[in-house]
Amino acid sequence: MTEHAVVIAGGGPTGLMLAGELALGKVDVAIVERRASQDLAGSRSGGLHSRTIEVLDQRGIAERFLSEGQVAQVQRFGASDVLDISDFPTRHPYGLGLWQNHIERILAGWVGELAVPVYRSREVTGFAQDDTGVDVELSDGRSLRAQYLVGCDGGRSVVRKAAGIEFPGWDPSTSALIAEVEMTEEPELGIRRDDTGMHALGRVEYEIRDGEVVYMDEGPVRVMVTEQHPEATSEPTLRDLSEALIGVYGTDYGLQEAHWISRFTDMTRQAASYRERRVLLAGDAAHVHSPAGGQGLNIGVQDAVNLGWKLAQVVKGSSPPSLLDTYHAERHPVGARVLRNTMAQTVLNRPGDRIDALRDAVSELLSMDEPRKRFAAMLSGLDVHYDLGEGHPLLGRRMPDLDLITADGSLRVFTLLHDARAVLLNLGEPGGFDITPWGDRVRMIDAEYAGPWDLPVLGAVAAPVAVLIRPDGYAGWVGDLTDAGLPDALTTWLGPPTAP
Ligand SMILES: Cc1cc2nc3c(=O)[nH]c(=O)nc-3n(C[C@H](O)[C@H](O)[C@H](O)COP(=O)(O)OP(=O)(O)OC[C@H]3O[C@@H](n4cnc5c(N)ncnc54)[C@H](O)[C@@H]3O)c2cc1C
Repeated sequence: MTEHAVVIAGGGPTGLMLAGELALGKVDVAIVERRASQDLAGSRSGGLHSRTIEVLDQRGIAERFLSEGQVAQVQRFGASDVLDISDFPTRHPYGLGLWQNHIERILAGWVGELAVPVYRSREVTGFAQDDTGVDVELSDGRSLRAQYLVGCDGGRSVVRKAAGIEFPGWDPSTSALIAEVEMTEEPELGIRRDDTGMHALGRVEYEIRDGEVVYMDEGPVRVMVTEQHPEATSEPTLRDLSEALIGVYGTDYGLQEAHWISRFTDMTRQAASYRERRVLLAGDAAHVHSPAGGQGLNIGVQDAVNLGWKLAQVVKGSSPPSLLDTYHAERHPVGARVLRNTMAQTVLNRPGDRIDALRDAVSELLSMDEPRKRFAAMLSGLDVHYDLGEGHPLLGRRMPDLDLITADGSLRVFTLLHDARAVLLNLGEPGGFDITPWGDRVRMIDAEYAGPWDLPVLGAVAAPVAVLIRPDGYAGWVGDLTDAGLPDALTTWLGPPTAP
């Protein structure tokens, strides 16, 4: 039986990101993916939010995405005006318009460079776990043996179901068809609202000019049309799409063919546990919700970045398996919050005079500075705060990408994280901390930084003297003039000290 340390079911954005993280952690990881090629997917997601661009920047690959997409202010809450984040303290104070098929292609290219094997054209059909590992059953009759299995296999996750993990939540209240199509007539591009809900027609190819989306004159049309009969569950057809378009626009604009069609709903559910012994869940396998605010892919990628280094350390034996429980503890609340905010946004997108009034009230609130900052920081993922206890405001928050001065010259904090290893950033006396017992897992960087410490929403905070930056870019310990708490933090995040 072929063995890998970790098998990932599903090579969508979450599975690909996780595979990259594990490969950087020097773990033998393989992906099992149903699709024969990465191209065989529609483009559900329209792009990346600021924190996701940051985590890609932490690995040195953000430029690959930025060079292909369109940078813009894209965040809205429900039907609000755009929540501009250009004043946020980040190197990427914007979103990136880039269709999901391109995001996946670029991620797959990176994972390929890291030599991760991908078993394509087959599915994970089930598994059996014991005390030492997991036998992963594949649809081709073969099995793979792994220490850990991660279900990144989307909302209908076979892994979640086979693990018996509950998926509580709310049934759908609305359903929509989404497609990329060829039409012989010129459609009415833009967003339309009517008694059935919100609909949108645009071209797949577009540019951002002066902050506005400008569609190309020709090329495939991207359709999103809310269905009159949300109870439909079968695979959508061209005829379904034609009928839905005629129901809303009075015409299907000479609909000819669809490159892909899909149906999505606002079903809102979250796995009760992200871990069942040697089996973990990430991305849509762990949480599904309406696409409002464009958050699903983004939090899936960020789940992967939270889990990857922890799983790598457990597999390599430097940390105990209990480290994996911090994955659920940290990411479940983030997912739960997205479920809540997407439910609220779904209501704000409903038709009706009373909802119009609610929309106006929320829009007015969000035009004020403080609410704009809070909601934009939530949607962009920049305000994520893992509860690591009392301490400096940076504790449990993302480390800003500061410009540091070191003995070797100037460098950015994020460049220190390219290899997904922890960093002890010492801004005090050079060599001020003894980390020898963890020296194989963390490196200390002596540096100077004279600029401001500005965090999203919180604003200016006191300058810390030292920060333990976890491989995912979050502050796992923040020190003043002493090393109080540092050995405990190093043990918590990186495992017990190595005997001299
Ligand atoms: C209309 C729409 C618009 C959206 N827009 C946005 C947006 O703008 N921004 C955003 O962040 N999110 C958006 N989303 C959500 C986003 O598309 C998903 O959250 C994202 O694709 C989740 O990634 P994933 O890798 O977790 O799961 P998936 O993308 O579902 O990938 C799962 C992978 O697993 C494979 N697979 C499934 N079962 C098996 C199996 N048993 N064995 C092997 N392989 C398997 C599948 O082929 C697939 O490749 C949108 C969603 C919709 C419907």
